[in-house]
Amino acid sequence: MTTATHATTLPAYAASTENDAWHTYLAQIDRVAPLLPAGLMPYIETLRQPKRCLIVDVPIRLDSGGYAHFEGFRVQHNTSRGPGKGGIRYHPDVSLQEVMALAAWMTVKSAVVNLPFGGAKGGIRVAPRALSRGELERMTRRYTSEIAVIIGPDRDIPAPDVGTDGQTMAWMMDTFSAANGRTALGVVTGKPVTMGGSLGRQDATGRGVVTAAREAMGRLGRPLAGTRVAVQGFGNVGEATARLFVEQGATIVALQDYAGSIFNPTGIDVAAAQVHCRDSGSIAGFAGAQAVSTEAFWQTPCDVMVPAALEGALTAARARGLDCRLVVEGANGPTTREADDILRERDITVVPDVLANAGGVTVSYFEWVQDFSSFFWSEAQVNAHLERLMAEAFKAVWDLHLERKITLRTAAYVIGCTRVLEAHSVRGLYP
Ligand code: NAD
Repeated sequence: MTTATHATTLPAYAASTENDAWHTYLAQIDRVAPLLPAGLMPYIETLRQPKRCLIVDVPIRLDSGGYAHFEGFRVQHNTSRGPGKGGIRYHPDVSLQEVMALAAWMTVKSAVVNLPFGGAKGGIRVAPRALSRGELERMTRRYTSEIAVIIGPDRDIPAPDVGTDGQTMAWMMDTFSAANGRTALGVVTGKPVTMGGSLGRQDATGRGVVTAAREAMGRLGRPLAGTRVAVQGFGNVGEATARLFVEQGATIVALQDYAGSIFNPTGIDVAAAQVHCRDSGSIAGFAGAQAVSTEAFWQTPCDVMVPAALEGALTAARARGLDCRLVVEGANGPTTREADDILRERDITVVPDVLANAGGVTVSYFEWVQDFSSFFWSEAQVNAHLERLMAEAFKAVWDLHLERKITLRTAAYVIGCTRVLEAHSVRGLYP
């Protein structure tokens, strides 16, 4: 028995010795802890301990007739404020530590935008492009049945992330429904609109990123029209972000994806780049811009830089070379701890992931609500609700950052962590 008011050691799987995503998250909690209400401090450890981590073996039959096994994960970091919520990632670098960090960021994010969800995340260590469509479907269905013991419409609700999409969610929904003998639309979000999905979900994360950028630029005394923007990542988040920036009168001067970086100071035709990317698999080789090196991309002269690919992309060296006024984090965890400090010293404002990319989970919440009521909203209604919630969350974070003279990231964490710990406190500890 211990007389300490709270545990001080992490379980072995939750310890971190490297500079990985989980380490970054723990450092963020250390930074915000002294700023939280003193009455909540006895509960702070709950933010450092993932509630539930499931590791599953996902065996599938290959088209060749052989078998392959993949390592799958589902982590529920915290469910104090409601069911777990968070995407499913298919990527060769997926690890337990990464999924834990992504789940924890979902806990904070859901609370920052005040959604009735906790935080969760899942993934499979796999290169999805190396599988056929049939293999992908079999892997998705087997993974779903393996994690079905902990997911469900009122328990934990997955969504798309890197390497997954609406089709993946449709297979997951169908597998879960078949096993339960009834259609369970609300078990996943980000589904196709023809099958319980929400209008506006496809673009929601990008729309939220642009809304956050607009709110930030407005407070810095700059309208979005005429703003020069660089976007890293041209997938679900990056493509919608670039397209919606252009709709607001901004100019996309640089893009980067896994295969290349392109630059055009007079503006990249985003629609044409999208067609090129769809046809060739990458933006590399797009004729309407010049190819530049990976590092030159990070030095693009611009007003807004949007990392929208993977975590850890914005390193200390890149932070030193950035030539922008504002960073808006479309990806989860794109900025390393050292880079964050450098950006603060350089007076480059950072709108953190837990606020900037919250548009996706916000419209996922709308989809979940629509599925339960079987009454579907117009796209205009979805976008109006999204813009209102994003603008309200932004205002709360911005005002706290001014009031307490802290970064936007720390302000967002103060708001999110306080809400999670308040819920934990009023629910009490069972038994
Ligand atoms: P995606 O798979 O649709 O796109 C990822 C993009 O990143 C692709 O263009 C890919 O080419 C690029 N990329 C991969 N490796 C790269 C590298 N080394 N250098 C440069 N570019 C690289 O994924 P997505 O759904 O757009 O997610 C992107 C980020 O946004 C992730 O961090 C994800 O967690 C986060 N996010 C996604 C959503 C969502 O709704 N999809 C919501 C919130 C946050």
